[in-house]
Amino acid sequence: MGNIGAKEVPPLFGADGRRVDGRHLDELRPLKVTAGALTQADGSAYVEWGLNKVMAAVYGPREVHPRHLQENNKAIVQCRYNMAAFSVDERKRPGLDRRSQEISKVIAEAFESMIFVEEYPRTSIDVYIEVLQANAGTRCAGIVAASVALADAGIPMVDLLPAVAVGKVGGKLVIDLNKLEDNFGEADLPMALVPQSGRLVLLQMEGHLSRDELSSAIDMGVQGCQSIYGVMQQALRERYAPTPAPGAP
Ligand code: ADP
Repeated sequence: MGNIGAKEVPPLFGADGRRVDGRHLDELRPLKVTAGALTQADGSAYVEWGLNKVMAAVYGPREVHPRHLQENNKAIVQCRYNMAAFSVDERKRPGLDRRSQEISKVIAEAFESMIFVEEYPRTSIDVYIEVLQANAGTRCAGIVAASVALADAGIPMVDLLPAVAVGKVGGKLVIDLNKLEDNFGEADLPMALVPQSGRLVLLQMEGHLSRDELSSAIDMGVQGCQSIYGVMQQALRERYAPTPAPGAP
C-alpha cells in the first residue's frame, strides 16, 4: 500500500473480471493447516496459505520470564511474530522491527481475550510465529497457525480464531489480498473473528474505505473466517482422530 503513487499500477483484474491469480473477489487462496507439526513444542501448527508459509509453536502455561511480568491472578500471553530473513524477495533485515513488534502485540492481545487466563495464575503462555515465506496476509496466517497450536497445546480458549484480510483493489472489495494486491491496493483490513459469538478481537486498517465499504468489507471477512474456521477444525480433527487409510483394519 505504501507504493501508491510511487509506481505505475499493473493490471489487477483480467478481462473476465477475475483477479491476477484467477480468483473471484470473495475467493480465498488455497489454505492448508497441519496441527502438531513440531515435536518439541507443547503445541504447534503449520500453515500454507497461498504462497505464505508460517509455523507456530506454543509453550506453556509455564514459569514467567522475565519474572517481573508475572501476574498473580492470571496467565500472561506473550507473542513473538518474526519474519525469516529469507521470507521475502529482498532479504529482510533479521530481527524484531517495529512492524513485527506491533503485530506481536496485537496478536497477544487478541489471544489474551480468548484464553481462560484466570485458570493459570503466575504463568506465561508463549506463542511463537515464524513466517518462513511471505506473500501478504502473514499476520492472519500467523493467527490461524497460533490458534491451532494453542488448541494443540490443550490450552482452554473460548473458540478458535480464524483471521483474514479484506482489501480494496482497483475500486473493488476483495478478500485475502496477495502481495501484488497489497502493494497496489487502496485499503487493507485484517480481522480476526470469534466464530461462535461473532466478536472481532482484531481489526486493523490501512488505507481508506467509506463507511459502507467498511461494513461490506467486514461482512466479507466474517464469511471468509467462517470457512477458514472449518479448515482449522478439520486440521485438529485429523490430528486427534485421524481418518483410517482406506482398507486399514
Ligand atoms: P501482512 O503480511 O500481515 O499482510 P503487511 O501488510 O505489513 O502485513 O505486509 C504485507 C507483505 O509485505 C508481507 O506479507 C510481506 O510479503 C511484505 N513485507 C512486509 N514487511 C517486509 C519487509 N520488511 N521486507 C520485505 N517485505 C516485507
